[in-house]
Amino acid sequence: MHATHYSSPEPGGGKVTVRVRWRAIVSIAVVLVLTACAGEPPPADANDRIPQKPATAVQPAPSIPPSPSPVPPPTGGSGSFTAGSGRGEVLGAGNKLIRYRIEVETGILWGENPVWTPAEFGTTVDKILGAPQGWTESAQHPVTNADVRLSNASWRFQRVDGTAYEVRLRLATPDTVDRECGKVGLDTAGEHSCRSGQTILINLKRWLNGAKEYPVTIDDYRAAVINHEVGHYLGFDHMNCPGPGKPGPIMMTQTINLQGCVPNVHPFLKDGTFPSGPWVQS
Ligand SMILES: [Zn+2]
Repeated sequence: MHATHYSSPEPGGGKVTVRVRWRAIVSIAVVLVLTACAGEPPPADANDRIPQKPATAVQPAPSIPPSPSPVPPPTGGSGSFTAGSGRGEVLGAGNKLIRYRIEVETGILWGENPVWTPAEFGTTVDKILGAPQGWTESAQHPVTNADVRLSNASWRFQRVDGTAYEVRLRLATPDTVDRECGKVGLDTAGEHSCRSGQTILINLKRWLNGAKEYPVTIDDYRAAVINHEVGHYLGFDHMNCPGPGKPGPIMMTQTINLQGCVPNVHPFLKDGTFPSGPWVQS
């Protein structure tokens, strides 16, 4: 869950075109990832990935212009990152330990925006992953899903420094996110976040301001994007809404189109249910 803008749904004709292209792009992305990281977790994907426009595109998707932000979003960014230091406590009691490293891009021109240090970003990610309805809830409600080859799966998490990690989460300016995600064929369009192999790139613009068309608080937006991208790392692809009025699965691209679902920023509901819907055909 990622990003900010919600593009409005595409008109009928365009949808077919997009779906076909998406399939092509995803196939390429999967091939690239499998090539680059054989033996790594599941195929790649990006949250809110959207297809890159073909050179010959004649029907660009309509988009809603972003509303003005309270202050201009940060620009700049060196493309390099500084990592957090220290280790956190183990969160949860699931079977599989996922160690995560925290990084923030250097050289960001913050302007009047609050400055996010690796320590602050790490603390926030810790809270999201360890929250009662977060992925750590899997210890009490293990996940089984044959489509993504998960059987009775549960996870626990620990923030680490150093190079022994399963996944790293990078907070980065939109240009850097676009460039890095573009390397695996994912178009993040200055708004979205993505996951590629062991790296998650979180779009700083939306981290600060949320997604305009996604009616949740900024804290909930942040939970949504972290939970969704970590979900990709854990093996999940995108899901559709299971039905009007139902809580959106965390693996929906809710910031793009709720499809009649109610916003839900957590992997699990309060009763331990793991909301899921049909896989997005890609
Ligand atoms: Zn996604």
